[in-house]
Order: sequence, then C-alpha cells, then structure tokens
Amino acid sequence: MDVAAGASRRATRALIDLDAIAGNVRAIRAAISSGVQVMAVVKANAYGHGARMVSEAALAAGASRLGVATVDEALQLRLHGINAPIQVLGPVSIAEVETAAEREIDVSAGSMEFVNGVALRQSGRPIRVHLKIDTGMRRFGVLPVDALAAMKALAAAPAVEIAGVFTHFGQADEVDPSPTEAQLRGFNESVAAIRTAGLPTGLVHAANSAGQLRSRDFDADLVRLGIALYGLPPSADAPLLPEMRPAMTLVSRVQRVFPLIPGDGVSYGATFRAPRPMRAALIPAGYADGYRRALSNCGEVVINDHRAPILGRVCMDQLVVGVPEGVDVVVDNEVTLWGGIGDNAIGVAQVAERAGTIAYELVSGVSARVPRVFLRDGQVVAIEDLTGLHRTR
Ligand SMILES: *Cc1c(COP(=O)(O)O)cnc(C)c1O
Repeated sequence: MDVAAGASRRATRALIDLDAIAGNVRAIRAAISSGVQVMAVVKANAYGHGARMVSEAALAAGASRLGVATVDEALQLRLHGINAPIQVLGPVSIAEVETAAEREIDVSAGSMEFVNGVALRQSGRPIRVHLKIDTGMRRFGVLPVDALAAMKALAAAPAVEIAGVFTHFGQADEVDPSPTEAQLRGFNESVAAIRTAGLPTGLVHAANSAGQLRSRDFDADLVRLGIALYGLPPSADAPLLPEMRPAMTLVSRVQRVFPLIPGDGVSYGATFRAPRPMRAALIPAGYADGYRRALSNCGEVVINDHRAPILGRVCMDQLVVGVPEGVDVVVDNEVTLWGGIGDNAIGVAQVAERAGTIAYELVSGVSARVPRVFLRDGQVVAIEDLTGLHRTR
C-alpha cells in the first residue's frame, strides 16, 4: 500500500493553504518599495505550517530570503534543495560555525564573545555574519555602545563576510509606538556610526511583522515576516492588511458519537459531569497533537457549522465534545479545531485566548505527527507526515 495514501487518512490534519501563504507575501510586497527585500521567517517548522513547502511557496511569491532559529533548521532546508539565502536569527555556538559556513548559512552575532570567537577563524569558507544590536529588548544582541567595536572586529576578521546589521522590536505589536520608535532611533544611530567609520553594514533590517504592519519607517533594506506570512495578526493592535488570510486550518473527524446520562463523568478526573441526558462526540486529537490541555472544559470546536464545547480534560490523543442540542452529528463528520471559513470558522486568536496563550504558540505547537495537507487552488498538492513529504501533483 502507498504510505502517503495511508497518511492522508488520519482524521486529524493541518490543512495548509499555499495560496494564502503566497497571497500574504504578495500583499506585503505590494505595500513596500521595490528595493526592500522580504525574508520569510520559517523557524519552528514555519510556525507549524511545514517549513519546506512554505519556504518554496514564499520564495516563489516574492520573498528572497529565509529566516530560521537554529542551524539545524537551516540544514534541513538545504537538505531539501532550498538554495535561497538563509539566516539563523537566534544565537549559535562557535562549534556550529563551520557547518553553517560550508552550507552557506548566514549566522547572527549577538555577543562580543561570539564576535571575538568567529574573528579567530583564520581560513575556510567565509562565514556570513549579521551583527545583532540589542536596542532595548534585552535578550540577544550587542549593546549599541559595543556595536562599532563589534563591526570593526568582524570587518578585520579574515574569514568573515559582513552580511547585515539588525535589531529586533520587543513591543511593536502594542498600541503605543514610542518604545519601537526609540529602538529604531538607537539602531539608526549605531548604523550611522558604522557607516561614518567607513565600515560595511550589509543589509540593514529591523521590522518583524508588527513593525512592518505598523509603519513604513521600519522597513529599511529588508522586512522579516513571520506571523503575518501565515495570515495571523501579531496582536489585536497590529492588524493585518485586508487582503491577508490565515493559511492553517486544524481539522479532525468525529470518531464516535455516544450518549451520556446524568452524572456521567467525562475523561480523566471526571471534571465534567453530564447535568442531563446528552450526546457526546469523540475527536481523535489531543495535547500531543498540539491541541492544548488548557482548553479542557473551556475550548470549543466547530461541527456542522455549530460550536461544540469540550467536555472534561483534553487527553494526550483524544478529546470529547458535547453535541449541540438539535444538531445532527454522525461518525466522520468534519470537525474544525481552529481556522476555517464562514460558519465553520473558529479563529486561532480566539482559541489562543481561551487557552491563555497567543496564536504563535498554538500554530507552532502542532506536532510532527499531525499530517500537513498542502493545498493549491483547493487541490491537495502534497502531504507531509511522519514518513516524509509526498507530493501528489
Ligand atoms: C521570529 C522572528 C521574527 C518574526 O517575528 P513575527 O512577529 O512572527 O513577524 C523576526 N525577527 C526575528 C529576529 C525573529 O526571531
């Protein structure tokens, strides 16, 4: 039997609309000037959407570079024949530099220790380095007072190529723009000092999705598009462009419909007890798929255009919902866990709020055992599951 055909039959799947990914890239491209590049940030398996297919779609739609968090994530993309520039945005150890250089993966230098360590390389293929300046987030980056010295050390290093200088905004998704504007001012001053010293900067970049959506002032040479690429707003205060739409719908199917009599306790700990005779439905999805246990007794799914409440605890592999009064639900009915359109929709942001988290954490938490079903023009073009990527068209 064809393994791919087997995978496509798992009830719980993440449907990934590649046309949405492409459309979201084009919407941003249309909003920025032609000289500004778009980096598709595909870390964490493209925020759970499938890094390989998403990267291909984003590059085809006008992104020119990819951003990841680790060298391994970059290597995985290289392994799959993706030759576009890739930058590791997060910290890497000196021990990873040779591998990155060999595979032409850009790294980020965010501490003087790393700058000095990488400057010690005497030979080999030059490593492409982006200097990360911490303009206020206090996480990863050299402070503005050290930026010029860091760039001097990198410029003098024999086996380093300066690829860029960048910063990252910690509050661009908030109503008040002043912290972000202050970060930009600090960044611009550092970049100016580097230029005045006659040193190269490579690509200058600052904006994440929220920065990009909030103001053109943050665009610089390159915008780093993460959450907006997936059609999800960074926050309620940083809305998407009107033509952008979500790419992921997490779906499943009703596995079993069964009656509850008053007093029946549902799932581990019997935290829900049926107050009256009712019907329940079993959904084969749980927290090991990325459907959060925090949604126990407070989440909702959509079945046949109706919201159905989660009864009791979400288990590792299964959950139980109440069948809404008067709604006809039978085995194999499609269930929307999040995403979807029209009456069948339940927004990721809404589910995230119920779970006490943000959309980023929900989508990036969809685990490897959930098959990703990739769609273009409404047709399945590929399925990626634990056995690999299977292109169907
Ligand atoms: C993850 C990341 C981004 C993308 O952020 P979004 O809010 O998802 O757009 C941009 N830049 C850096 C350095 C990142 O780590």
